[in-house]
Formats: sequence, structure tokens, C-alpha cells
Amino acid sequence: MKFGTKAIHAGLQPDSATGAIMTPIYQTSTYIQDGIGNHKGFEYSRTGNPTRNALESNLAAIENGKYGACFGSGLAAIDCVIKMLNPGDEVISTNDLYGGSYRIFKTIFEKYGIKFHFVDMLDIQNIIDVVNERTKLIWVETPTNPMMNIIDIEAVSNIAKSNNAMLAVDNTFATPYLQNPLDLGADIVMHSVTKYLGGHSDVVMGALVCNDDKLAEEMYRIQNSSGAVTAPMDSFLVLRGIKTLHVRLQRHCENGEKIARWLVNHSKVDKVYWPGFESHTNHEVAKRQMRGFGGMISFTLKGNEIEDAKQIVKNTQLFALAESLGGVESLIGHPATMTHASIPREEREKSGVVDSLIRLSVGIEDADDLISDLDKAMP
Ligand SMILES: *Cc1c(COP(=O)(O)O)cnc(C)c1O
Repeated sequence: MKFGTKAIHAGLQPDSATGAIMTPIYQTSTYIQDGIGNHKGFEYSRTGNPTRNALESNLAAIENGKYGACFGSGLAAIDCVIKMLNPGDEVISTNDLYGGSYRIFKTIFEKYGIKFHFVDMLDIQNIIDVVNERTKLIWVETPTNPMMNIIDIEAVSNIAKSNNAMLAVDNTFATPYLQNPLDLGADIVMHSVTKYLGGHSDVVMGALVCNDDKLAEEMYRIQNSSGAVTAPMDSFLVLRGIKTLHVRLQRHCENGEKIARWLVNHSKVDKVYWPGFESHTNHEVAKRQMRGFGGMISFTLKGNEIEDAKQIVKNTQLFALAESLGGVESLIGHPATMTHASIPREEREKSGVVDSLIRLSVGIEDADDLISDLDKAMP
């Protein structure tokens, strides 16, 4: 089955009781048993719920995996992965990382005796330099936020395999429509479902997908034991969102390309970060491991004036000033004062987050209107 068909059908059955073509919202905490232990596969909704289970099967299918698990947020999904480790274990992570991932690693799990190394994975040698017998997990995010750095998943997976470490990939930015990390050697794929998978800015949710039976057992054990599950109503909304994922992503990619090419020719714009440009670092890797370049773009302004950037994000009408990404509507953000404000200036500038950097989550509106909106807001 190809992607669009899987997005709409995989893992889903019409409701056996009524024939309803859409998976019902099973808004129930428990399930009647005919006798002790004699039930229809469901006992308690933390452990399993038919709406959530349908979504988990559907998600697993579109990531080319066997097992899916959904959580109350992307961070709850990350929490589950790290809980697979033991004190003394070490993790090697991308240094250019979603802020919340960095925070949970440093402020929650470090005190339980897990050690995190943050390295620049654009150069694979940096991983080889710190990997050792205590390395149990390599954590990759690609493309990264907000610099759109592309990490070679297959190359990292080779290092993970030869060191008996797991590889987990945060696939939030690319989505399974553009990139399938399991096919490239990853053991676990993680998603902030909140973003493109939900797609309509109305749900906070996370997910993990894997192929290995043992790993899945651990994943479900922690999902049930820690209890950070997602709700039936939210599962329904995301099932609905995923049915149009391929159509939405096609338009996100088309609009993203048009806007990136327009920005590059604008007299006030200095650099444009979009993996589709031949000049983008690791563009060749992006071409190999992704089927398109997505709708996330960052750019800087000539003169690098923070006031110019603030004026743009304030003056756009269609691009709404907000955190988050991946919805049908376009968003604009200023990483230096928003998502990356807590990182000291010197450090954030080293990774490219300068004062005039602006990040766009290009939605699926008409590209001409989006371009005219940006044009009017330019200094
Ligand atoms: C948003 C995001 C997360 C965290 O997900 P939540 O659903 O907000 O908990 C993790 N990784 C990336 C890349 C994200 O964009």
C-alpha cells in the first residue's frame, strides 16, 4: 500500500457494532467483563482504548513500523524513551535540539544518573569521539529547529549499531510523509503529534513507533506504568488529521519552496535556511533521506537588526505570531526572543540563532497571499 492509502485506511476497521465508517470516540474509562478475565481485549483505558489503539496502529503503519504508542504530549513520548535507560547509561544527542527535549534531558533525567552529551552531528566524527560502552541511546532530531540542519540518519545508525546503542529519531519536522527513520536504521521514531500529524493546531499529543518486539514490550510497559496516555477525543481528532497528511504536506512543500525562493531574492534578506537549496549544508543527505523539503524556513536580515525582525513578526497579517508549527495556518516566530530566549546569546549565536533570525511555519493558504503578506511587513 502506498502512503496516501495507508494514511486513510491502515489499521482502521469500520465499527463492528454499527458499521460506522469513522472510528468512534470510545469515551470510557473501563469495560464490562462477562466473568473474571473474560473481556473483549480492553480492561481499563490507561492500558488500552479502542480509539487510541486505532490511532496507534495507523501511526505505526505510516511510519513503516509494527508498533505505535500515543502519549499526552511529545515530551511524554520522549519521557518514555529515556525511562528505558538505567542510571549510569549515557545518551548522545543532537546539540541543536528542541528546547523542551533539552530541558527534560538536563533538568529531569540527569538527576537520575543518566549522562547526556550534546554534539554537533553535522560532523559524524563528533559522535564517534564521545561514544563508549555506556552509550545506550543516540538521539537525533532532523531537520533541526530553527536552523534546518540535516543529520545523516543512516550514518548515525551505523555508529549506533556497532556500539549496541539504540537510535531514536525525532521526526516531528519531516513527518512520515517525507522521511521514515525506521527504514534508515532507527530503532524508535518519536513525534510531537501536536504539529503536522494533528495538523490543525487543536491537539497536544506525542507518539513513538518501533519494530522490535522487545522494545515494544518496554514501550507499552512504560506507557501503562507511567500513565501519560492521550485521550479518546484527541485520538479521534488526530485520526481525522492524518487522513489528509499527504495532501497537506504536498501543499506545505510547494508553498515552502515558493516562499524560500522569493526570500532568497529579496533585497533585505541575508540568509535563507531551507533544506531544498543546493547550497544548504547536507542538501545531498536531505535529498537522499527525505522525499521533499517541507514548509519550515528560517531567514536572517541584512544588518541583523533585532528591531527589523520584531517589526516583521508584528506586521504580518496572515502569518500569525505564535509558538508551535505544522498547522494549516502559517505561523511566524522570532527564536532569539521566543523559543531560544533562555539560551545565552553567545551560545545561541554560535548555532546560528542571531538577533534577526525569523522562523516561518508555512501553512497551506495561497502562496501568493503569503508572499504579499511578508512583502508588506518587510522593513
Ligand atoms: C513541539 C516539539 C516537541 C515537543 O512536543 P510537545 O507535543 O509540545 O510536547 C518535540 N520535538 C520537536 C521537534 C517539536 O517541534
